[in-house]
Formats: sequence, C-alpha cells, structure tokens
Amino acid sequence: MSEKNVFEKIRDREIPTEFLYEDDDIMAFYDIAPIAPVHVLIVPKKRIVSIAEMADGDEVIVGKMFRVARDVARDLNISEKGYKLLFRVGRDGGQEVPHLHLHLLGGARLSENIHPV
Ligand code: AMP
Repeated sequence: MSEKNVFEKIRDREIPTEFLYEDDDIMAFYDIAPIAPVHVLIVPKKRIVSIAEMADGDEVIVGKMFRVARDVARDLNISEKGYKLLFRVGRDGGQEVPHLHLHLLGGARLSENIHPV
C-alpha cells in the first residue's frame, strides 16, 4: 500500500487538526496556509486522487462535499457575501496533495488572478 498522504494522516488523527465538520464520509478543517481570510478544505475520507480520477459512484461523495461547503460557509457567516469553491486538478491545475479536496475561500472580495505561468 502506498504511503498515506497528509489528508489521510489528518483523517487517522496522526496529524492533530481541529475539525469544523466531520461525518463518516467527509471532513472539513482550516487550510494550514490560508490564501483568504476564510480558507477551509472539504475532504472526503475515501482517497480519491482528483476529480479526473473519480470512479463511478463517487459523485455521491462529491455532492456531499458541496453540501458540507454550503453548511460550513453558513456556520462561518460568509454565505451572504459569497465565496469561491475551487478544485485543483493535476499539474496544470496546481494540485499539490493527491487526495481530492474542495477549497472554500471567502471573508473578502477575491480577485480572479488565473493566468498561465
Ligand atoms: P492543492 O494545492 O489544491 O493540492 O492544496 C493543498 C492544500 O493543502 C494547500 O492549500 C495546503 O496549504 C493545504 N495543507 C497541506 N497540509 C495541510 C495540513 N496539515 N493541514 C491543513 N492544510 C494543509
């Protein structure tokens, strides 16, 4: 079996992390290096590498990720003003951790700033 990635270590309590939300399928916690005043990661407990590598049936978990994002945004009082939701996919998408995660970004008006490097 391949070595655990950082989110599997968080899931298995090998890296102590404060959860904003947790159930059997999904966990949510603050990003360790925030790029916005509110920066939360919504992560499935099952290891799905990325959106590009979703298996048939994983759309149920991905759908739950959006529901959790909605609820965490409400809990953190950023629903009304709005926020961004971001999946990075693979190298060109800038994905660093090979375990699916949805970035919830808010707490300020955010620029687009997406351009080729
Ligand atoms: P990505 O570039 O989309 O793969 O994003 C990975 C994110 O995981 C980055 O924003 C990191 O800051 C974040 N991250 C890495 N390690 C941890 C950790 N131990 N706890 C919380 N967030 C983390």
